[in-house]
Amino acid sequence: PRGPNDAANVNMNVYVRIRPLNTREQGCRSIASLINETTLIFDPKQDEEPFFFKGSAQKQRDINRKVNKNMLFEFNRVFDENSTNEEVFDSTTKNIVKSVLEGYNCSVFAYGATGAGKTYTMLGSPDNPGITYRTIVELLRQIDSMTGWKITMGASYIEVYNENVRDLLHPDTGMLQLREEEGGRVVVAGLKVETIRSSDQLFSLLAEGNRNRSQHPTDSNAESSRSHAVFQVHVRMEYQTDVKYAKLSMIDLAGSERGAATGCKGLRFKEGSNINKSLLALGNCINALADGLRHVPYRDSKLTRLLKDSLGGNCQTMMIANVSPASLAFEDSYNTLKYATRAKSI
Ligand code: ADP
Ligand code: MG
Repeated sequence: PRGPNDAANVNMNVYVRIRPLNTREQGCRSIASLINETTLIFDPKQDEEPFFFKGSAQKQRDINRKVNKNMLFEFNRVFDENSTNEEVFDSTTKNIVKSVLEGYNCSVFAYGATGAGKTYTMLGSPDNPGITYRTIVELLRQIDSMTGWKITMGASYIEVYNENVRDLLHPDTGMLQLREEEGGRVVVAGLKVETIRSSDQLFSLLAEGNRNRSQHPTDSNAESSRSHAVFQVHVRMEYQTDVKYAKLSMIDLAGSERGAATGCKGLRFKEGSNINKSLLALGNCINALADGLRHVPYRDSKLTRLLKDSLGGNCQTMMIANVSPASLAFEDSYNTLKYATRAKSI
């Protein structure tokens, strides 16, 4: 794999996390499981159930049953329903901290349908913190050992909802505008960045921001599933005359179920056009980057404009695709796996 040090390249690592069946799905067939650490099988071929007729087993075909997809998918790593947030962190974003401290912009996306486990993975809960908290704690730990460096760290937490950008830490600020500075740095005008000094303070920032989301992110209702939450850590590193900047973005994306990957038509498209604009644009940017196109349509949405300096170019990117293993969620999980496979080729 290409490393972040390879200046001309983009580096995307893609992971899939399968969550446990929930109570609504109990009794459903599980159609996504792990073969090994990097391979997932989707909709495996089912054994023909023998049909007993006059004492001997007969082959009985169910003509209504669809042929199983029986597909294997390869990713950098696959996590099954027994995985913990700590294990996910250890094999994913723990490795990004070094790149941030080398001065690379890094971004981590949680992708998947509503209810698939994005917020559980990114945010978690106070007694089971998600990977955002764990990553910043690790960042603070590594900074502690960088003697001779003068390092300052700030955090911002913003929401993209209906193509409006809001500051979740200062909700009274109103709508924010995006600006691109010379050299490609993206600036959110009027955004107040909070200085981070400790991990305790960090957790309260995350919690405070989440209270200000359009709806509480752990409700799986329509509102919260339409908002993208972007937590960014800005790091300034100074050593004698050398100054480096890096930005780490942790993004809890809107639910992917509203035709984000496949496009929607007619009425549904109208209804969802604002809501999905950013997710559609992200998909188009990923496609363009995967194809190595020179023109990447960052300008098509607020989310992609915001992340222009953190996606593609000289950046390290991770995607954690979240899926339910239940047969009920067949279409969503299948679309998510296809989207994640596309991202892999970046
Ligand atoms: P999303 O943010 O993708 O809409 P959530 O993270 O809110 O989904 O998850 C939906 C529900 O499933 C929540 O109740 C959450 O606690 C539970 N859940 C998700 N992932 C896991 C997991 N890996 N282990 C246990 N429970 C999970
Ligand atoms: Mg959520």
